[in-house]
Amino acid sequence: MQIKAAVIPEVGADFQIVDAEIGDPQAGEVLVDIVAVGLCHTDLAAQHGHLPFPMPGVVGHEGAGTVRSIGHGVTKVAVGDKVGLTFNSCGQCASCKKSEPGYCHEFMGLNFGGVRPDGSSALTRDGATLGSNFFGQSSFGTAAMANERNVVKLPADADLRLVGPLGCGFQTGAGAVMNTFDCEPGSALLVAGGGSVGLSGVMAAAARSVGTIIVVEPVQARRDLALELGATHVIDPATGSLSEQVRQIVPGGVDYVLDTTAIVPVLMEAFASLAHRGTIGLIAVPSDPEAVMPVPMIGAQVLGAKVVGIVEGDSNPDEFIPELLALHAEGKFPFEKLITTMPFSQINEAVAAQARGEAIKVVLVHE
Ligand SMILES: [Zn+2]
Ligand SMILES: [Zn+2]
Repeated sequence: MQIKAAVIPEVGADFQIVDAEIGDPQAGEVLVDIVAVGLCHTDLAAQHGHLPFPMPGVVGHEGAGTVRSIGHGVTKVAVGDKVGLTFNSCGQCASCKKSEPGYCHEFMGLNFGGVRPDGSSALTRDGATLGSNFFGQSSFGTAAMANERNVVKLPADADLRLVGPLGCGFQTGAGAVMNTFDCEPGSALLVAGGGSVGLSGVMAAAARSVGTIIVVEPVQARRDLALELGATHVIDPATGSLSEQVRQIVPGGVDYVLDTTAIVPVLMEAFASLAHRGTIGLIAVPSDPEAVMPVPMIGAQVLGAKVVGIVEGDSNPDEFIPELLALHAEGKFPFEKLITTMPFSQINEAVAAQARGEAIKVVLVHE
């Protein structure tokens, strides 16, 4: 079938919207007509070669749409169902069997390999193979080939123009707070970075009645939005030492740090903001894949501190995305406040707007 897709011709190049071909779903696959797709930092990390992905290729991993057709053996969804797409996992390894698909032993190949496990690609252009299968979907197109493991069936009243980012950015921030940290009511949380992941964490923390929710973020509009979403304090990093400012608010330090910046000096200040038994969650993709965070060893021991890596908010998407939609229905996770919709044809403008800080989460909608 012919589709329109946003192809990256080579590492570092802009997206080009072109005609491409998508095949029929193989066993276990789900062909989805995409209504809208979120733009996530990880798409841009692949575009710029910070993550390995074969070019020319199609990325996109916050797709939402309706099932067009299903491959042999698919039972989770049927033709016409509304679905959100999320990261892929194997379903067979020890992590998947423990309901921890974010730590699937096959995660890199299934999400960044650019091909199906059998080496074929769902996408071609003029007979030439395109890198596909990004997060098991490559949803920057009018249709995407997903897998039974990474489609989440949505209620019939789900707004497909808005729900896509639940499959990555929103579940990542919310899941760090609700699953990984499992923040207690009344605890203290520092969120470094007021983008879509950080602000999803803020909304989740407010829903959990976390007592002190501090956001450090350089952009005034994002600090204002953080306060509207439930942050109790905001800090402009230009106004001095982060850890001193945090300790003026919470003298004993914060129990949890959600770092969405991957900036080493910010992480060092975040470490200096920790309370006894505090935890730092690492969630961001650094621009240098070899980046290292130095940890003060005595300090870590005295505090009994923990540093934890987090993928996709420790989410089991079939359970957690419906949980977030239920919170949203109660008015406790108003994720639409983070979203700016733009036409899919303006994908390069959307990247620029997000980079300038004018949009927190762009969702690209097909005309
Ligand atoms: Zn697995
Ligand atoms: Zn993402």
